[in-house]
Amino acid sequence: MFNKILIANRGEIACRVAATCKRLGIASVAVYSDADATAKHVAACDEAVHIGDSTAAESYLRYERIIAAALATGAQAVHPGYGFLSENEAFAQACEAAGIVFIGPPVEAIAAMGSKAAAKALMHAAAVPLVPGYHGDDQDAQLLQREADAMGYPVLLKASAGGGGKGMRVVERNEDFAAALASCKREAASSFGNDRVLIEKYLTRPRHVEVQVFADQHGGAVYLFDRDCSVQRRHQKVLEEAPAPGLAAELRREMGEAAVAAARAVNYVGAGTVEFIMTGASHFYFMEMNTRLQVEHPVTEMVTGLDLVEWQLRVAAGEPLPLTQAQLKLDGHAIEARIYAEHPARGFLPSTGTLKHLRMPEGVEFTLGSTGPAASRAPVRIDSGVREGDTITPFYDPMIAKLIVHGATRAEALARMSRALRACEVVGPHTNVEFLQRIVASEPFSSGDLDTGLIERHHDALFAPVKKPFREALALACAALLTREGGAAHGASPWDALTHWRLNSGYTQTLAWREVESDTAFATTFARDGGVQTLEYAEQRDSFTWWSGTGVHEFGATMGDSHITGRVFVDGDVFHVFCLGEAQAFEWQNLLAHAADAEHGEGRLTAPMPGKVIAVLVEAGAVVEKGAPLIVMEAMKMEHTIGAPSAGTVSEVLYAVGDQVADGAQLLVLEVG
Ligand code: ADP
Ligand code: ADP
Ligand code: MG
Repeated sequence: MFNKILIANRGEIACRVAATCKRLGIASVAVYSDADATAKHVAACDEAVHIGDSTAAESYLRYERIIAAALATGAQAVHPGYGFLSENEAFAQACEAAGIVFIGPPVEAIAAMGSKAAAKALMHAAAVPLVPGYHGDDQDAQLLQREADAMGYPVLLKASAGGGGKGMRVVERNEDFAAALASCKREAASSFGNDRVLIEKYLTRPRHVEVQVFADQHGGAVYLFDRDCSVQRRHQKVLEEAPAPGLAAELRREMGEAAVAAARAVNYVGAGTVEFIMTGASHFYFMEMNTRLQVEHPVTEMVTGLDLVEWQLRVAAGEPLPLTQAQLKLDGHAIEARIYAEHPARGFLPSTGTLKHLRMPEGVEFTLGSTGPAASRAPVRIDSGVREGDTITPFYDPMIAKLIVHGATRAEALARMSRALRACEVVGPHTNVEFLQRIVASEPFSSGDLDTGLIERHHDALFAPVKKPFREALALACAALLTREGGAAHGASPWDALTHWRLNSGYTQTLAWREVESDTAFATTFARDGGVQTLEYAEQRDSFTWWSGTGVHEFGATMGDSHITGRVFVDGDVFHVFCLGEAQAFEWQNLLAHAADAEHGEGRLTAPMPGKVIAVLVEAGAVVEKGAPLIVMEAMKMEHTIGAPSAGTVSEVLYAVGDQVADGAQLLVLEVG
């Protein structure tokens, strides 16, 4: 086994790998960019080496620097994590050339699976079932269009070198094909440096079911069962679970064996995932093989009790697989939710900013081993790469944490997930926590009726306004405000300490609030008359007492007959209340006038998020129609086209291709009319 390894990644996966190293007594070396100088993964490792600027291209993708860091620190092997260089054959090759073990498959296997098109050709030869489609070398646009026409619409265009849900276009009609092809090729070239595409029949209501495989250097290969990752947005996984619900034992074995056959066809070594797309109860087709550890590997760890990172290290060090297929057992059910800094209601746009307040449900230290759990398995696990106070930057994937739960049954895991999500508190960037809660509570998800269109099909229900415990949250916001302004820790007699709200006997004060989410203003009235305190809201007056608890941000109140406790995180004059599993925010309309939030007025052509300009489609002087595409931006993992809000003449273009722009920056000037 190795004494020291370098982790060529960041965030939660770097922390995850470091945890196994620590448990096994292996020293770990972190690498970090400027933006990550104080990141959690740096603290999680024994040493750390700075490798460059904040952009991935100047840091986590600069593999010569990573190899130099490994050599300088005496690391014997490199764990690439996922994303970044994990599926980069040149990197694997360079490690080998430098005498460093790449903890992953052989270079040839990465190469074979790196092109989805070439992989499909190989799988066809290995008799693994494929989705009908075209994956040929000839990339002539007319030929591709003819292939799509012959297949029948809808079709799916995929970047052959693609990944992470990027570089895909669903084409519904033949007249849309040419434009979709151009856009897909552009994204493929800019993201993957290769514009080759393939076409597949776009299957309706399919499931994404994938199989975890593992192979060693001695010819051993096993499957560690399956995961269902059907719940996706923008073709990216949101919720994952193991085992895939409703798979008959026979089918489970059949898919497992097909996955092992796929791995054997490329002489695979290490951890890999064979992704299948499934239709009906039993038809499955090979989609691609990811030659690395997956984001969702924890659900497999939870149902097998195995530490997959430990297996990766053992296999890379030349040991045989710790268990045989017959020894592998499934136990219970596990679900993972990816908590992202993003804005689900705004098309899942990534959101950035400082995590001013971050509270995750109680996780339990996980106790996995190479042949089974070292102790009883933890029912709730949090894999996170950030801490409170850290910033989600536009440079990398905006994931905050992964929440993983285990239960004896799916129903038990589901209940645990629901509870755990309700205990997540994040103030700063927008998050998908509430959205996840809604999916988990939705009928199709809770009944296990999964397919990749679940989110889109239930869009209206998932985004419908929900009724939250408003009065309760308001009572807690008032409690926090009164505590702060009164300077009193306990509500017995806070008024004594008041300065600007001084009173003696009778006292009444109107407090103006704005409910942040709905941007609605309203008022509450406090009164104290002798020993009696009341709070009036919406023409209902209740007796009111409050106190601040012993825990951080803890508050309690009684309002009429209700007794409420929760947490309030106060950010300036915004009171973020977490109670009864819901987050609500109220802004106190202080005496000082609040500058109205800069509204995105119509006609303003501003960047919806920080990012990079990747195409400028008009020049100054261009006369455009309403809706005409003007500029294409890319941020994190998405491409956004900014269109003309009305017909007009472009009088100025303020940015050029390659420019980095800030959130809200004006991109062009359009003279309306
Ligand atoms: P998984 O299939 O393991 O769930 P994804 O496909 O979502 O994971 O990708 C895992 C991570 O790797 C994500 O953070 C994604 O942004 C990143 N990623 C995937 N493919 C690439 C790629 N080709 N280049 C850069 N990053 C990638
Ligand atoms: P990536 O490398 O980005 O992960 P995949 O080929 O694995 O790309 O596809 C990602 C997702 O897109 C799948 O999980 C599935 O939801 C959807 N998808 C892929 N191929 C098809 C298809 N032929 N029909 C319908 N949906 C598909
Ligand atoms: Mg995939």
